[in-house]
Amino acid sequence: MCERVLILYRHPLFAEAVRRLLSVEADLEVHAAPLVSVALDEALETLRPEVVVLERPGTEEPEPDLSRLVSRAPRIISFGLADNVLTCFEGTTIASAGPDDLRRAVRLSAPTQELARLPVAGAGTAGMRELRWHGRGGQGVVTAAKMLAGAALRDGRCAQAFPEYGPERRGAPLVAFTRLADAPIRLFTPVERADVVVLLDPTLISTVPLVDGLKPGGLLLANWASSPEDLRQVLGTRAHRIAAVDATAIAQATLGRAIPNTVLVGALARLTTLVSWSALEAELREAFGAPGSARAEANVSAARRGYETVQAIAADEGAAVPVPPPQPSLPGWRSLLSGGVIRPTKVEAAPQTGAWRAQRPVLQIERCIHCLFCWVFCPDSAILVQNGRIVGVDYDHCKGCGICARECPVKPTAIPMVGEGEPVAQRSEALSA
Ligand code: SF4
Ligand code: SF4
Repeated sequence: MCERVLILYRHPLFAEAVRRLLSVEADLEVHAAPLVSVALDEALETLRPEVVVLERPGTEEPEPDLSRLVSRAPRIISFGLADNVLTCFEGTTIASAGPDDLRRAVRLSAPTQELARLPVAGAGTAGMRELRWHGRGGQGVVTAAKMLAGAALRDGRCAQAFPEYGPERRGAPLVAFTRLADAPIRLFTPVERADVVVLLDPTLISTVPLVDGLKPGGLLLANWASSPEDLRQVLGTRAHRIAAVDATAIAQATLGRAIPNTVLVGALARLTTLVSWSALEAELREAFGAPGSARAEANVSAARRGYETVQAIAADEGAAVPVPPPQPSLPGWRSLLSGGVIRPTKVEAAPQTGAWRAQRPVLQIERCIHCLFCWVFCPDSAILVQNGRIVGVDYDHCKGCGICARECPVKPTAIPMVGEGEPVAQRSEALSA
């Protein structure tokens, strides 16, 4: 049983956090020292610790030289709070570790063997399946991620589901994640290497790098009105299994609304062994009101249509995974200069923020008096002006907020909003009628 623990930290907060994690072990004598040469040598010399808990380096920090520690501490554990990765010095990595694992690692006389038996699911754990969902606010992306997790729980599995929100508004692209495993999951980071990617909104195909991070042979399921072969052409990948289901049309027919999420979850139950149909059906009935209610039954019916009509084509074994085009990189918050100074990066024009739009403004030039009010009030500088006159809208960056339409002094407005994808001519006629 150990008595002295030495925490070697890069950041004082790490020492504080680990100290708290170990505070329940009353008979441990916990010390901390910064991971710099002089303090390290002195601490090792005076304390002679049984266990060293070493702060795991961040991705941009150098690996520590452990050779100086080996002869002076019987056991060394490297631990990262941010990514919850715990490594025993012998080389066994527990990819997803938590407070209990750290306490056990400090306590155990043979941590490598014991930790290897801990039933935790982390990155690389056999049997864990990770999913990424792409869609827009209002399409039920997060609900879909949760429904799948809920069905897996009913099947007796472990599951987690969570979103990664960007701008919280209808129509803005958002991502959600689901993890399923047969053991408790202690990995809480966004999914980086997905087994399955689900696309709820086909208009995102040109703006979201869908196959980025999808494992070779992984499944890409899309809300797609045409065949999976067509989808494969558009995506340009032969290394992944591709599946298509016309979820918008099915949702419109069964639910009366173009909310494709339950159709896609039903299709997933057919294409994979992630959840059983009976568990999914029970989950849908509970999620959408009282069992037997019209809404619950309509959603079960939508999922069943997805289950029955989805089409898939296999991956080409050995085909190369497409390399995504380089993305502009912005400085992270850690790399920003102090004082909030942001270096000019020339990337501000690159993100196609117009992809967030659910509605678009359409300039009716014959009625415009060129007062420039829309130009003044547009928060995205998306109104195009030449020689003091409005000439159009920059749809690559217009986010569809509708401020221009509201501020236009011409009544009815000379720059009305129409639904994205709605035939413009037809809508313009309706407005001027
Ligand atoms: S809808 Fe909003 S973002 Fe688009 S042009 Fe009008 S004011 Fe600008
Ligand atoms: S606010 Fe209306 S009238 Fe004025 S420039 Fe814009 S579209 Fe034309």
